[in-house]
This record gives sequence, structure tokens and C-alpha cells, in this order.
Amino acid sequence: MKSAESEENQIGLRDLPSVDTVMKTGTAEIYAAEFGRERAARRVRSVIEALRGGLSDGALSGTDREALLRNAEDRLAAALNSERNSGVRRVVNATGVIIHTNLGRAPLSAEALEAISDASGYCDLEYDLETGKRGRRGRRAEELAAELTGAEEALVVNNCAAAAVLVLTSLCEGGEAVISRGELVEIGGDFRVPDVMERSGAKLVEVGTTNRTKIEDYEKAITDGTRLLLKVHPSNYRIIGFTSAPSIGDLAELAHSRGLLLYEDAGSGALVDLSGLGLDDEPLIRESIAAGADVVTFSGDKLLGSVQSGFIVGRAEVLAKIRRHPLYRAFRPSKIVYAALEATLVSFLRGSMFEDVPALKMLALTEEELAKRTNDVADELRERLGGISEAEVEVIEGSSVVGGGSAPASHPSGKVISVRHASASANEMEKRLRGFDPPVIARIENDAVLIDLRTVDVSELEIVKSAVCEAFR
Ligand SMILES: *Cc1c(COP(=O)(O)O)cnc(C)c1O
Repeated sequence: MKSAESEENQIGLRDLPSVDTVMKTGTAEIYAAEFGRERAARRVRSVIEALRGGLSDGALSGTDREALLRNAEDRLAAALNSERNSGVRRVVNATGVIIHTNLGRAPLSAEALEAISDASGYCDLEYDLETGKRGRRGRRAEELAAELTGAEEALVVNNCAAAAVLVLTSLCEGGEAVISRGELVEIGGDFRVPDVMERSGAKLVEVGTTNRTKIEDYEKAITDGTRLLLKVHPSNYRIIGFTSAPSIGDLAELAHSRGLLLYEDAGSGALVDLSGLGLDDEPLIRESIAAGADVVTFSGDKLLGSVQSGFIVGRAEVLAKIRRHPLYRAFRPSKIVYAALEATLVSFLRGSMFEDVPALKMLALTEEELAKRTNDVADELRERLGGISEAEVEVIEGSSVVGGGSAPASHPSGKVISVRHASASANEMEKRLRGFDPPVIARIENDAVLIDLRTVDVSELEIVKSAVCEAFR
């Protein structure tokens, strides 16, 4: 008798709220208003499914109908919150990695941002305001890039990988390209030089060894089918020690004496000399052109510090051929990209890139400036966290990273803030910072969370301080 009664009172599947009932809750109304009724209803159905699972495995026993409905609404609210926070979201980069591919590479300058805003409506993308006729797409950005690199012509595409594919397809399809074994590199993500070569229909002829390749190695590999010599900057790794590779000048001389082209994929490619900042092995595009490279490719969102894009610069005759290739139509960027690039290139032209362009500004931040900023923030954190005995905030020596496959051997040094919690792990603290709004991304070393302010804009310091204080609560 007793057991029959408790079975009757036992909450069961029949007590699950219906989709209609949950859709009438306040949370579902908000969900539907923000993301549409269809998507809200789909979420509601999956919430009810989850409740059904909870009921059958006994996790929800002892509740009643109203509690089930409240539970459904709570779950829906959590789903709404995560939906609101998904997508491309602003974060604060406290990792010290300047060109952080996972965090969107280069942050844009104020000038680039304004140009993007101006171009966001109608603009003269392919329209000549003087004649009222059709104009050349990308004309200004390409003219500026040519001027800054000393090249005759330039062409912009969506990224440097696209630039490499386009160059090889239009200049070397069905032919051979000679490359050193030391340069058959994987750049990160899925960009492997040999794979791109293959896609382009060019045949790769490998010469030399991983650490040493001589000009004679290239010379011996040249056949009737050879179209170009290829030099790839080994971006994110360095072979050090017993190494040698011919210079661009030597390769250009050999290529031209045999009626071939020299193509260099410079990757991050510096427009200005950064050796004073410790980046002494990043190829200067201007120097490659001056040394005789016929065509050079590089990224727009690495050391150039602008939007995702790829540049192809070089001799007019070669560029004309590349521009005519049908694949160019598939690789050309949007008006937003040209607008941002124009603004960034103008910063280089007038010499204000170390003030305007965030990536270069961060790179050029002196150890003294960084130390002052770091000590100030640490002092304030200690003051604000004074009442929390578990908190340990220290300033230690650290080093930042250029990132984006640029200058892997140079690490701008400087002070970083080390944060430890007496009873929470570094992983837990890092996770709390990541859960802040906006998320603060830090790195972990030796069981401490390290906050590197080199990559944090002055306007974001308050966010970092609040996030750290919050993480100790
Ligand atoms: C980064 C890099 C690329 C790819 O550039 P994306 O702009 O990311 O496509 C190609 N080649 C080299 C040498 C690189 O360093």
C-alpha cells in the first residue's frame, strides 16, 4: 500500500513540461526575441530531452512539476548566455604573443578602423571619381605597397597562402620549381609548402640538405622544365649552427642567367628594418626586391600589422601575368581589406607606424616602459587584494613572443606579473580570467598565471585588474 502510494507520487516522464509550456516562460520569450522563435524552440526541445535523461537515470527524483519547469528555464537561461557569448568575441590578450594567430593576429590601428568604417557603406572600390567610369580595384593599396617595397607593381589577395598558390599556379603550372630541402616547411595551421606547390600544379624539385644548400645544388637541378627558383622564409623555426644557403642576390643571378624567375615567399615580411628591436632575421621586402627577386609574397596581418591579406609584389611584367590568371578573381579581397590596408600603409609611408600600428608599437615598447606599466598594475593589484591572504602577486622577469611565425628566435624581454592563488591551481585561475567579460587570456608557467602587459593596450589595463581581482573572489 505504502509503496503504491510513493510510486504514484514519484515524478515521471508524464510530468515533463511541454515545448509550449517552456516557450511561454520569460527566458524563452527573450531567447526568441534575440535569436528567433525557431532556434529558441530547438533549444527548448534539447533542454526537455536533457530533463528526460535526468528523470530516467534518477538524477531528478524528488522534484515536482514546478521544479522541473524551473529547471528547464534555468537550463535555457544557461544556453541563452552561451549563445550570447559565442561567435567572434573581443578578448584581452595578456599572453605577450604579439601576432597571436588564435587571437586574430594583428590588432588594427585607429586609422585602419576609421577607414573600414568609411568604406562600410558604398565606396569607390571599382569606380573612378574623376572620370565617372570604372576604376581599378585595389589601385591605391597596391600603389602604396609597391612604393614601400621598391617593387614595380603589387597585388593584394586574401592571405599569403593564397598569394603563394596564385603565384605558383600562374607562373609554374606544369613546370618545375627548385627549392631547398631546408625550406620545405609547415607554417602552422595546415599550410605546408609542398602541399601548396602540389595544388598549384607545379612540380617540386628538392635540392641540398636540411641545413646546407649551395648555389650549385640549384644549378644542377635546372632542366628544360624549370620555370622558377623558389625561396621560402622558414618562418616559425630556425636551423642554427652548421648552415648555409645562397643569398637572394646569388639566386636571382642564377635564375636570370638561365631565363628563370626567382620567387621568394617571405611570410611575415617586414616593410621596415626591425633589427634594432631584436628581429634581425626577418627578410626586408625592399631588400629582396633590390637583390633581384622577381616576385615576393608576404602577409598583411603579421609584421605589417593590418588585416588578413596577402601581398604579391614584383616586376610589372610578372605581376600582369599573375593578375590575368582566372584564380585571382577567387582570391581578391573585399573593400574592407583594401580600406584597412591603405590606412596602415600610409602609417608606414609617413613613418608613424611605431605610434599608429599596434603590433609595431608593442614590439617597440621598451623594457623600461613595460616595467613601469607592470609595476604600477602589480602595485594596484596588491592594494586591491590586500584583504585576501591567498593572493600572491609578483613581478618577475619574462619574455614576450613575436608570434605568427615571425622571428621565432627573438623574444622581447620584459617584466611580467605572476599571479598565484594559495589554494586554487594555475589552471583554475587561468580559466577564471578566461571566463571574465571580456575574457582575459593569460599563459601559465611554473604553476603561476603570467600576465604580460606588452600585448595589453593601456585602455585595457582596468579590465585586467578587475579580472584578476574577480578571479580571487
Ligand atoms: C605565415 C606564412 C604564410 C601564410 O600566410 P597567411 O597570410 O597566414 O596565409 C606563408 N608563407 C610563409 C613563409 C609564412 O610565414
